[in-house]
Amino acid sequence: MIPDAPGANTEYDLVVVGGGSGGLAAAKEATALGAKVAVLDYVTPTPIGTKWGLGGTCVNVGCIPKKLMHQAALLGEAIHDAKTYGWELEPDNIHHSWESLKDAVQGHIKSVNWVTRVELRDKKVEYINGQGKFLDPYTITTQTKQGERRLTAKYFLIAVGGRPRYPDIPGALEYGITSDDIFSLSKPPGKTVIVGAGYIGLECAGFLRGLGYEATVLVRSIPLRGFDQQMANLIVAEMEDKGVKFEHRCIPKSVQKTDDGRLHVVWQNDKKEEFSDIFDTVLFAIGRRALTKELDIEKAGVEVAPDNEKIDAPNEQTNVPHIFAVGDVLYKKPELTPVAIHAGRLLARRLFGGSTTPMDYENVATTVFTPLEYGVVGLSEEKAIERYGEDNIEVYHAYYKPTEFFIPQKSIVHCYLKVVALREGDQKVLGMHFIGPQAGEVIQGFAAAMKCNLTVTALMSTVGIHPTIAEEFTRIN
Ligand code: NDP
Repeated sequence: MIPDAPGANTEYDLVVVGGGSGGLAAAKEATALGAKVAVLDYVTPTPIGTKWGLGGTCVNVGCIPKKLMHQAALLGEAIHDAKTYGWELEPDNIHHSWESLKDAVQGHIKSVNWVTRVELRDKKVEYINGQGKFLDPYTITTQTKQGERRLTAKYFLIAVGGRPRYPDIPGALEYGITSDDIFSLSKPPGKTVIVGAGYIGLECAGFLRGLGYEATVLVRSIPLRGFDQQMANLIVAEMEDKGVKFEHRCIPKSVQKTDDGRLHVVWQNDKKEEFSDIFDTVLFAIGRRALTKELDIEKAGVEVAPDNEKIDAPNEQTNVPHIFAVGDVLYKKPELTPVAIHAGRLLARRLFGGSTTPMDYENVATTVFTPLEYGVVGLSEEKAIERYGEDNIEVYHAYYKPTEFFIPQKSIVHCYLKVVALREGDQKVLGMHFIGPQAGEVIQGFAAAMKCNLTVTALMSTVGIHPTIAEEFTRIN
């Protein structure tokens, strides 16, 4: 299936376009297996001029800064909880400094950029800070400070990732920002409207509210589309309790600057009624498009989907056999860092290590880092019913009470878990869903268990760790 090298005279064994999680993982693995590898990386500034360093979306404008800001928001809550545990603080006078948080987050990102750069050098992966463009299926050109370079390779890996989309409405590009900008905003975001109720929209709304800013989310259809809707609705209810406003069935119509420099936003519901309010920040989180067009990808002959410019590449192989793709550029694959890393490594092993192991995109665990986190692995209840039929599905669920919530008298009404299983025999587990603190940490181990064909019988015969919240999964009957 992997084609023979097209020519003996190519300069590199592999040229990777894109220095994000997937590209770097593939490049390092391929080099370790003896291949001669170059990585091209280049960041086009956002419409408001934000630019970043080596490491791609996850490090610079994704998972890492998001987790740090989420942590900052959780700490704000913990300060209030601490008083009930005997800490003598004066929570009413506590002030949060956006500038200090932003500087700390950006400082960490810069250190990761640097470590990434050093690691490439140590592992003998050539790094080229330039934008790659295909000249033909076997050649990529790039402009560097030293002038134009043309790179030929046996194999190419497209790992350019994606960038947030903007809606086609007046003022969106001029006055809106996206998740590419929020983590490095020099001024506090203030009262913010978030357009979009996917992962990014809800996570940003969650930490902004937690840091003390007013946050409104415009939901076009349903929240967290693709996720279990019972869980998604619980997440929304919890966020509403924490003060996030939700405008359901609404889309933005325009953004205009007011005389005093704020933003007047008009939106419309599905009955065509119009509403408006004044905000300091408008954050679009309406999905992402792949950055393939910028590659002059048509010159390589690689086909992309018309709607989002993503690449349909079974086993990461594009329609041009010696050109591969991993990460967020892939069509209908999870846009998640560990998925890109895993797929990149496995691909490198298939290309240069004699492996035949393909990437398994099933049962990838993930977590939405909202104020109460939502960790999930496997199928939603809706998907399980669609795939196996309602009569063949058993659903176990429970509300639970984290011990540490009692003293601060925190709301427990949305602490909930659900196991979706096949009804027959030992009841193979199809999906596990958990809303609560540290949901990612809770779900990770169960994801490994699901890889080993976890059943409800096995879950029930597992002795829990007391008192934890993860043990609730062992007590569902
Ligand atoms: P999503 O596609 O997940 O969500 C986009 C949201 O915007 C949906 O609510 C959608 O509504 C709405 N929307 C789309 N177009 C419009 C429009 N024109 N006007 C108003 N609303 C609109 O994209 P995200 O940007 O949230 O996330 C992208 C990917 O990043 C995710 O798929 C996820 O895999 C990844 N990610 C992972 C994280 C993690 O692992 N924790 C964190 C953040 C992101 P509708 O449902 O009606 O289409």
